[in-house]
Amino acid sequence: MTVDGNQPSLGATMRGVVLPGGDRTETRMFPVPKPATGQVLVKVKASGICGSDLKFIYHQHTGTGGSKYQGVIAGHEPAGEIVAVGPGCGHWKVGDRVVVYHISGCGQCSECRKGFYIGCTDERRKAYGWQRDGGHADYLLAEASTLLALPESLTYIDGAMVACGVATAYQGLSRAEVSGRDRVLVVGLGPVGLATAMLASASGAEVYGIDTVAARVALAQELGARPGIGPSATALSDLKRLTDGAGVEVAIDCSGSAAGRYFCLDAAATWGRVVFLGEGGTVSFEPSPMLIRKQLTLYGSWVGSVESMAKTLAFLDRLQLHPEAMVTHRFSLGEVDAAYQTFAAGSTGKVVLTMD
Ligand SMILES: [Zn+2]
Ligand SMILES: [Zn+2]
Repeated sequence: MTVDGNQPSLGATMRGVVLPGGDRTETRMFPVPKPATGQVLVKVKASGICGSDLKFIYHQHTGTGGSKYQGVIAGHEPAGEIVAVGPGCGHWKVGDRVVVYHISGCGQCSECRKGFYIGCTDERRKAYGWQRDGGHADYLLAEASTLLALPESLTYIDGAMVACGVATAYQGLSRAEVSGRDRVLVVGLGPVGLATAMLASASGAEVYGIDTVAARVALAQELGARPGIGPSATALSDLKRLTDGAGVEVAIDCSGSAAGRYFCLDAAATWGRVVFLGEGGTVSFEPSPMLIRKQLTLYGSWVGSVESMAKTLAFLDRLQLHPEAMVTHRFSLGEVDAAYQTFAAGSTGKVVLTMD
């Protein structure tokens, strides 16, 4: 094992946050783990809080399958610096700045071979912060197979944003092949929606964003969305007016709501592409007028791959974009309870824990 001066001594302890349910956080002391073969120890620098943490863990433990929480240290959006390296970790070395893809897969199934550890159904699949210890801690034991290099131009908070939401947005835009030729509607401007608006705008697209929270619409406009539509009865006609009566080439739902999904299908132009990124809920619509006769292509897109996360980081680096701009609230690890309460109140942008 390779170690450096930042590596904690043998027997050292660290803080880690578990989420027992009932809107509570619990900070406990844990032994600092030692990396085995194929693993590294990461000094966590930033750890994002995700809507899925609230939905499946913080309020109550309602998840099943991959979102079933097993009482581990929470947090699946970590970025940090490698402080110890186990054997067999290839080029990774102490001092490397890294983002951690949020799931370790079996490495052998077809989804793992594609880098879509998210889609691994093997019992060895473990998500950080759900079935194995995650990033709400001073240190994180990570599989080398889940590491991505964080470019120098990006901050650790940028990296934490990429670890889940920004890469999800990038993958959704990739599925619809969004380019500067497109007008793009983003419905639901939580963190994934804001990232979608930012990346679509940076790709040269004309972007419109809609949300029931005015502060989120304002933030989307700071990140590149255009003004013009609000969550009102005239939203569809406003959007049609702004798009020459045609509607948008691409509509992306990040709300997960029935109304949001329906609005996307309604707002898409003939031959348009619609992407459902937001999870949960239902939708009901008449296929003939809403999909078939409009010649629409409808994509479901779930998170992304290790490869698409690497492309996301490269894109941000090349365009000098900082998803940290979506962060409205920063808390230290010791303030984790306030961080969760603030995010759960529902009108923030992204909320992140920092460990320095
Ligand atoms: Zn997440
Ligand atoms: Zn697998």
